[in-house]
Amino acid sequence: MIKTVTVCGSGVLGGQIAYQCAFHGFDVRVYDISEEAIARGRVQIESLPAELQRDLGATPEQTAAGLTRLSYHTDLAQAVQGADLVIEAVPENLEIKREFYRQLAEVAAPDTIFVTNSSTLLPSDIAEATGRPDRFLALHFANRIWRNNTAEVMGSPATSPEIFGQIVEFAGQIGMVALPLYKEQPGYILNSLLVPWLNAALDLVVREVADPHTVDRTWMIATKAPLGPFATYDIVGLTTAYHINQARGKAGDPRGAAAAAYLKDRIDRGLLGMGTGEGFYTY
Ligand code: NAD
Repeated sequence: MIKTVTVCGSGVLGGQIAYQCAFHGFDVRVYDISEEAIARGRVQIESLPAELQRDLGATPEQTAAGLTRLSYHTDLAQAVQGADLVIEAVPENLEIKREFYRQLAEVAAPDTIFVTNSSTLLPSDIAEATGRPDRFLALHFANRIWRNNTAEVMGSPATSPEIFGQIVEFAGQIGMVALPLYKEQPGYILNSLLVPWLNAALDLVVREVADPHTVDRTWMIATKAPLGPFATYDIVGLTTAYHINQARGKAGDPRGAAAAAYLKDRIDRGLLGMGTGEGFYTY
């Protein structure tokens, strides 16, 4: 049974995950690589109670209790001592992750379960470095996890079904909706659907078949969805979309290259989306 959790990496997602676990009653250790990084993480975590009060109607007493269950560490061995579960949210870089797991494997107890929040890597890319492929899998959260509470659970072929089941159960205990995947899949479920949908919409506009607002209206009226793809681009931000299409272009897809050129022109004009107040819509 999972009682004590260590979250490694106290950035955007790590901070949210740590607080989510503590808010739901778990004892949580937060680890980051330096005093400076952990201090930044702590400031971010301490801003989250206000968000949960606003978005979920949590009381000040409930959110304050969450903060008391957190401790902050820069010594990895100390942070993972006695932990049942380590949730890793270090930068999205294969070498950084592998090196982190090599260090972690040396100091964590052999039965501690490790999960990665990686958005783009597969568990089998990292499994060997963990030294315990049977007790390692992905638990993938979406930004603003207390509100966008999906938890995609995905193992490698080496993950033990029993450990997979424990993580599905744990996800429910921290207020997430657990979404199990039975096979490794780049992009999990959500991005496997979302990215082709966004690409198809952009392709219509880049080839001058239709304009962005008409594409959105078509989708929204026909499916009763609250947002179309271009409003979604404004939320994601055009820089991320540009990087995805640039990679498609480099991989030899001419539509990716054309989409990247179109997005670059909008980025150069400051039309980045919600973050800058103007994208395909004005905010
Ligand atoms: P971030 O850059 O905000 O945070 C990364 C943190 O890791 C920083 O605090 C940094 O100091 C720390 N760090 C760096 N090297 C480390 C090491 N060796 N050991 C421990 N900590 C280290 O990144 P993020 O956006 O929180 O992303 C973290 C992970 O979560 C990535 O794998 C990313 O794919 C995933 N993710 C991000 C989002 C998102 O919307 N940002 C959504 C889902 C999943």
